[in-house]
Amino acid sequence: MDAYPRAPKEEQSIEALESCAIDRLRLLRAIEDGMSAGKRGNELEDVIAKAEEECELRRTEGLMFSERGATRDATSHFLLRLASCRNAEHRKWFATTELELFKFRFKRLDEGAKVDFLANNGFKACALVAQKECDERANDLRDILLGDYDFKKTLDVTHQEYVRLCTEKARDAKGWFKVEFEEVASLVKARRTYMIGGDAWVRRESIDALVFSRYRTSLHEGLAQGIHIFKKFEESEANRLTPLLKSLHQRNSGKTYVFDGSEAGVLSIPAMEATTDSFPLCMRQLYKAFKTKHHLTHSGRRALQLYLKGIGMQLADALVLWKTEFMKGDCSAEKFEKDYAYGIRHSYGKEGKRVNYTPHSCGQCIASDPGVKDDHGCPFKNLTSNKEQGSKLDELLRSMNISVGDSQKIVEKAKNQHYQIACNMTFAAVHKDIEIDAGVHSPHQYYLESRNRKNLSSQVKTEVPATPSPIAAVQ
Ligand code: SF4
Repeated sequence: MDAYPRAPKEEQSIEALESCAIDRLRLLRAIEDGMSAGKRGNELEDVIAKAEEECELRRTEGLMFSERGATRDATSHFLLRLASCRNAEHRKWFATTELELFKFRFKRLDEGAKVDFLANNGFKACALVAQKECDERANDLRDILLGDYDFKKTLDVTHQEYVRLCTEKARDAKGWFKVEFEEVASLVKARRTYMIGGDAWVRRESIDALVFSRYRTSLHEGLAQGIHIFKKFEESEANRLTPLLKSLHQRNSGKTYVFDGSEAGVLSIPAMEATTDSFPLCMRQLYKAFKTKHHLTHSGRRALQLYLKGIGMQLADALVLWKTEFMKGDCSAEKFEKDYAYGIRHSYGKEGKRVNYTPHSCGQCIASDPGVKDDHGCPFKNLTSNKEQGSKLDELLRSMNISVGDSQKIVEKAKNQHYQIACNMTFAAVHKDIEIDAGVHSPHQYYLESRNRKNLSSQVKTEVPATPSPIAAVQ
């Protein structure tokens, strides 16, 4: 274990760097999720251990040092540091989650490894205490502990029990370190050390706190340096590293969700309209605009057409749906055929290059930059921009019967630019508190997960009113 004194020098392909960075993002987001779910102590450690393993960022394999794991760990740390340094929220997020990861790793070290760590990371003359020395000073050490208010605070025991514990801990050589005086000046001042011949004897917990405090400082210094480093390579890496780092925080960090059309069954127009409560927020908004304006701009049409295709709508039904709706506005049947039908057939791979286009991913929705007349894009991003401040998003969430408390947490997450996590929290809020395990990756995946979760596919068939086919209405 080290505190990342310098970036790895090994040459790595851009793909390897990208995969490393996304794995770090997953690990830190898992830590963030664990913390925001109120997990502490062993519970949070279990989360970190599992995520570290899954993301292949462990520096050891069993008891052996892992060269690959250590390189991936250091590389991904520096990439995320660079990706986070230019935005205050990202800096805060990075420093908080990295510190938690560091604490988890440091606490797992045995005393010898801690001494090695301190020696390798600039702590002066830190050493273990021999049992014999400890026994000789036991009474003085017990008095130090008895007067240590921070130590007392960690124990909820009677005075008698406290005295017993202090006596026991004073004799435990593993609970003490000898450190050079200047390293622990603040503890000396607070009379929380025992000075012997220029050495300060310090409780193990106090050493942990000092190390964490120093690591926190080094993280902030590293982030500040990152801004300068980023500026230096921003232009020269404009086609490689710069876009990777700039887009990293907007990336989904879960498994890739591949569209082959086989996940969705065939979805009729009435069945679709009976299940709009399974639409993610972006598609609820887009579909609502489609139904009220009877029109959408080009990007909105494309996003909605591909989404509907992704959830199972067939080309014939799509043509009917769009024609019906557009003709409610100022579009004639001729104009629809001339200007819009081609685009729908194109989305289904029946025109132009005849490509089976994939529905948009969340990454594409988030990266889009809708203008004032547009209705597409990710509302978690669009409604938490500086001007909006999230109140419109809160309003929308509340209209989905999401509680005030849940809505506030979701808005906060979105404001911190974790749009897909906010979306998954929304999913949980409307699906009995159960999130999508693999995360939210695309609007159509959200819909399909929702339908699976509600297990309504069979019910939908019976619930959908037996209306005449809308095809007849527009022919
Ligand atoms: Fe839609 Fe994805 Fe944004 Fe959710 S995170 S609202 S699914 S774009």
